[in-house]
Amino acid sequence: MTWEIVIGLETHVELATKTKIFCACSTAFGGPPNTHCCPVCTGMPGALPVLNKKALEFAVKAGLALNCSITQHSRFDRKNYFYPDLPKAYQISQLYLPIARDGAVSIHTGAGNKTVRIHELHMEEDAGKMVHLGGGEGRIAGATHSLVDYNRAGTPLIELVTEPDLRTPEEARLFMQKLRQIYLAIGISDCSMEEGSLRCDGNVSLRRRGTTAFGTKTELKNMNSFKNLHDGLAYEICRQAEVLEEGGVIYQETRHWDPTAKRTIVMRVKETADDYRLFPEPDLAPYDLTDEFIEGVRAKL
Ligand code: ADP
Ligand code: ZN
Ligand code: MG
Repeated sequence: MTWEIVIGLETHVELATKTKIFCACSTAFGGPPNTHCCPVCTGMPGALPVLNKKALEFAVKAGLALNCSITQHSRFDRKNYFYPDLPKAYQISQLYLPIARDGAVSIHTGAGNKTVRIHELHMEEDAGKMVHLGGGEGRIAGATHSLVDYNRAGTPLIELVTEPDLRTPEEARLFMQKLRQIYLAIGISDCSMEEGSLRCDGNVSLRRRGTTAFGTKTELKNMNSFKNLHDGLAYEICRQAEVLEEGGVIYQETRHWDPTAKRTIVMRVKETADDYRLFPEPDLAPYDLTDEFIEGVRAKL
């Protein structure tokens, strides 16, 4: 009762284009490992990306369906980090000029309708998939071998970031369900949470009731079902409340929800934007969306 819950979600959805976002490789799920690959999506030196127009159309469609304003002049940026699932050692994303911003979605809670503000939607490419062998439950801890499959690398994604408007794990679940319905209705993704085409990270913090300043948040990963999203947030809220009640501090960190052990564990302390050496992507020209293009997409909604 002392604490008010503040939740914001970051979601990723894989777009149902036939080919990847910057090359002509297939986006089909499954297939023998490393067969849907080419020099572009495996980051070979000198390979050049070309933007998939269908991915752009789907992103605009999502932006319009979520009541956003569309950024007509935009471009891509590089987000640099080193990890084996990212063969170029950078992800092409939109950090500075997201394709859509300032949207809103309404959800129906027990207490009536509630508006959840959308901060932004941006386009980016998915990473490859790592498989860890020899450890428990496919986790890297204790693994003896790590394998990587680049079939998923370069699959078009839309990342959506909400404002911290959600106040309960139940509202977070309702929001994700609504988002899934919208994406399915406009036909931009199969939204299969089992196959990872729709994913969600939950940011959560507590503040003393009656105060306005936000508390320090933690970010929960692996919320790959509506139940995990709800239960992971509910656990994390209790954990934070206990720490705060005892006069402790919450550290801004990324935590992993373990549904079997029913607890969250620290993955890493929060990286800052500086760690990613963000800069405009030099291999792709900026683009301008005409009114005709946008209205053409709106007409298909
Ligand atoms: P970061 O810089 O850590 O990525 P952002 O400000 O970009 O943080 O927000 C990321 C997500 O976290 C958004 O969905 C936002 O609504 C949510 N968020 C931001 N601050 C808080 C907070 N104090 N408590 C809960 N959620 C938050
Ligand atoms: Zn390719
Ligand atoms: Mg952020």
